[in-house]
Amino acid sequence: MSEQNELEPPSEEFLRAFVHSASPAITCELCGRINYDLSGTDMDPGELDGLNKKQKAEPDKYFGQDNRIDWGTIDGKQFAADCPCNKVREFENWIWHHRQEIGSYLKARLTLEVTQTTRQLAELP
Ligand SMILES: [Zn+2]
Repeated sequence: MSEQNELEPPSEEFLRAFVHSASPAITCELCGRINYDLSGTDMDPGELDGLNKKQKAEPDKYFGQDNRIDWGTIDGKQFAADCPCNKVREFENWIWHHRQEIGSYLKARLTLEVTQTTRQLAELP
């Protein structure tokens, strides 16, 4: 189990870009922790009680939150937006740190895509 890092939480801007769903419970695949909604909304009968019992037995593996769990996917793994591991902030920091390189890459790649698409369009009858 990963411990919480000392980084600030991911920004709202990052979460708006990468969070695409909300669920009653989700495994944060960046750390293995089960994040779940303490209200039990949209859970099967007994599911919330089961999660609460597991949380008492393994408090580092289960994390209850006061609302549905916002989640997204990054590097092929689902992450819970408010997971205590805060591993997603490391991705945000990496992207921001390399924004010049990423911007140059996106510009070059999109230019190539436009060039290829324009050529394909010109070849159509
Ligand atoms: Zn996590």
